[in-house]
Amino acid sequence: MTEDSPDLKPATIAVTAGRPPHEPDQPLNTPITMTSTYVAGGALEYGRLGNPTWTAFEEALGALEGGRCLAFSSGLAAVSTVLDLVGQGGKVVAPKHSYTGTLLQLADLESRGRITTELVDITDTAAVAAACVDAALVWFESPTNPALELADIAAIAAAAREEGAYVVVDNTFATPLLQQPLSLGADIVVHSATKYLAGHSDVLMGAIATADDELYAVLKGRRDLTGSTPGTFEAWLALRGLRTLHLRIERAQSNATELARRLSEHAAVSETRYPGFGGIISIVLAGEALAADLLVQKTSLWVHATSLGGVESTFERRRRWKAEPATIPDGLVRLSVGVEDIDDLWRDLVTALDTLIVE
Ligand SMILES: *Cc1c(COP(=O)(O)O)cnc(C)c1O
Repeated sequence: MTEDSPDLKPATIAVTAGRPPHEPDQPLNTPITMTSTYVAGGALEYGRLGNPTWTAFEEALGALEGGRCLAFSSGLAAVSTVLDLVGQGGKVVAPKHSYTGTLLQLADLESRGRITTELVDITDTAAVAAACVDAALVWFESPTNPALELADIAAIAAAAREEGAYVVVDNTFATPLLQQPLSLGADIVVHSATKYLAGHSDVLMGAIATADDELYAVLKGRRDLTGSTPGTFEAWLALRGLRTLHLRIERAQSNATELARRLSEHAAVSETRYPGFGGIISIVLAGEALAADLLVQKTSLWVHATSLGGVESTFERRRRWKAEPATIPDGLVRLSVGVEDIDDLWRDLVTALDTLIVE
């Protein structure tokens, strides 16, 4: 494996990190190492404890986030491993509009008396800082899913650190190309690699990154013990996806910027939320839930599907999920803007939207 020079730019890291050394007859790409065990006497020993294909992915994502990375079987496996850092009865502060799977995990842990939670409006920095008192762990999403609210990560992280709390940022939406939470004071970054990192809607995988060696060792120990490890082929696909992360983000973002502008002027749309970066837009339909449910059935390019961050444009009405907080508008549709041609995407969307204009 190559050591990456710290001053390489993200696009170069995405392409070059986690490759075999440049030596005669070395493959350019890290092979898919399918094995459950290793000849005894080395560092790996058993398939649950490590795999060279995971390592290649971990080197690449770690270099992008500015820390050391561990790959997991899914984003929620990574979330669960991080929440397990909280001691019995410890307090977790999290955005009230976090990803539903994270909210469900928090509620489950609280209902079993494992933790207490305080859900906050992550945009209200002073209120979040006040909630950090006596916290064991402060969880961030920024932008939040699907409300697309932004947090002042550096300010809240400073308040949380003063309380001795772990600072954790779910960086799934922004990716390390648009936001590097470890440099803003976070202890741990969490990813659903299922989304932008892998980027082709063909993999379930998660990851964490930390610049703290002790924390890395604790989290690696938890992964070893629980076996929440990724498949080898998944790690290989995620690394293959990561090679073009910068190109996909660039195109998704330029498409999203233009679509958000056009959507905000459309009569069927009462509200457009776009944080100014990334590839996710949320719109609220003037005709509310009914119009939203119609919209997702009326397009041909845009696919009605959950998840996000793939090359293809997908959308869904988030409140169709029972676990989505009631403070998310009923008629909110989250759009994951892909890398297709902007004019084709708009024509497909506007044709469907035009049928929904409320007289
Ligand atoms: C999808 C998602 C997760 C969960 O990841 P999985 O890979 O589906 O387990 C966590 N956080 C955010 C922000 C997500 O969008």
